[in-house]
Amino acid sequence: MGFDVDLFVIGGGSGGVRAARVAAGEHGARVALAEEYRMGGTCVIRGCVPKKLMVYASSFPALAEEARAYGWSADVGAFDWPAFRGRLSAELDRLEGLYRKGQTGAGVTVHDQRATVAGPHEVRLADGTTVRAKHILVATGARPFVPEFPGNEHVLTSNDMFGLDTLPRRLLIVGGGFIACEFACIMEGLGVEVTVWNRSPLLRVFDRECAELITARMAARGIRIATGRTVDRIVKGDGLAVTSGEVTETFDAVLYATGRVPNTEGLGLTEAGVTLRGNGAVAVDDWSQTNVPSIFAVGDVTDRINLTPVAIREGHAFADTVFGANPRRVDHDLVASAVFTRPEFGTCGLSEEAARAREEVEVYAAGFRPMRASFAGGDEKVLMKLVVSRATRRVLGCHIVAPDAGEMIQLAAIAMKMGATKEQFDATCAVHPTMAEELVTMRKPVR
Ligand code: FAD
Repeated sequence: MGFDVDLFVIGGGSGGVRAARVAAGEHGARVALAEEYRMGGTCVIRGCVPKKLMVYASSFPALAEEARAYGWSADVGAFDWPAFRGRLSAELDRLEGLYRKGQTGAGVTVHDQRATVAGPHEVRLADGTTVRAKHILVATGARPFVPEFPGNEHVLTSNDMFGLDTLPRRLLIVGGGFIACEFACIMEGLGVEVTVWNRSPLLRVFDRECAELITARMAARGIRIATGRTVDRIVKGDGLAVTSGEVTETFDAVLYATGRVPNTEGLGLTEAGVTLRGNGAVAVDDWSQTNVPSIFAVGDVTDRINLTPVAIREGHAFADTVFGANPRRVDHDLVASAVFTRPEFGTCGLSEEAARAREEVEVYAAGFRPMRASFAGGDEKVLMKLVVSRATRRVLGCHIVAPDAGEMIQLAAIAMKMGATKEQFDATCAVHPTMAEELVTMRKPVR
């Protein structure tokens, strides 16, 4: 059977574009890719990148306040949302163009339309064309999930946050994961009155002590947080009246950030014989291969670790394995990540709770006011925490709540990946005066 292409990639996000570029550009495969929305996917268009730029935008009032304490007559003035949104949109256009160029430059044929799987070796495009492919890579990502309840048509999702016409005066955020908490801090920084409702404590999947500190700092900055709340209904009138049990409050906008679901609906996978997991994620083995040998899947659609660098690695490893005669599996252990709340959170490895459930541990922690904030009279707190195996002395978890914690955890993760012990952390001389020096100067376990 002749194939039109060696590889057809469905989805032009982090995982898909990497796989397509490497397969075509480095391994000489004939590759086509379909993207139904915008090249670059969630990370570039409506995730990591615009979010981080909004984090930057939201940080200036606090910086100005700090600057005044340092002797400057600084004032940020008013925030011009349309001006920022325009610049943001131009930047995303620029990045999208770069991603597209990366594909076409590597020889990938890009189809700007939806694609579905029509069989183990067949992809159907929205315009009715069928493409025969030796291999198919499903890299369709995930989308925000909004549960059914009366009035749910009035809510926003993270997809809507980057193009709002105006900033709401009062925003309710429903959810307690990293996306909910990041938007809470961003919006508060931009001058919006933010309320967060969640069923359980915020950042529940992370180290509890760190999650509690971040929650406390968010509350101290004026974000109203209520747990044990789920939304029963929303009624639109003069604003949005949101009811949870006995409580009804009115907001100008409601952001739902309670979870994401893999994009497999209507994709033709089950019909082609591909096994999906209970939540609709594509079931794959360590090689990102499904039970249908010609069909692979990478990134959020597989719901392994839903982060951009992981999707990129999975896409790269797939391309090297299948087209580069260089079989590579992705190691999903000790993947560091950051939550861009204020304070920021960098984390790698096991939380104290998860480590304790596994073995006997020692916990080293230092909580303190950083020099910079302390001088300015701020009450900001940072926390450096190491969870250490009693048996092997290896650092099982490193958790940092501090400005720029994302930058710090990247470096700590290298040592952890190399299997560093607490004694090796201690043998490393401190860099002074920094916050990170605490990571190598904590002598006695606190627990
Ligand atoms: P995606 O990037 O979602 O790409 C999938 C693409 O497939 C999309 O462009 C979609 O339009 C397209 N598509 C879907 N179905 C079809 C079809 N049938 N035909 C054609 N095209 C289709 N990760 C981090 O590492 N750091 C962060 O700070 C971070 N922040 C985030 C903030 C937000 C608000 C969100 C929502 C996510 C964030 N993430 C972050 C997660 C990160 O964006 C994802 O893990 C990553 O984008 C996954 O890449 P992917 O290739 O699997 O899917």
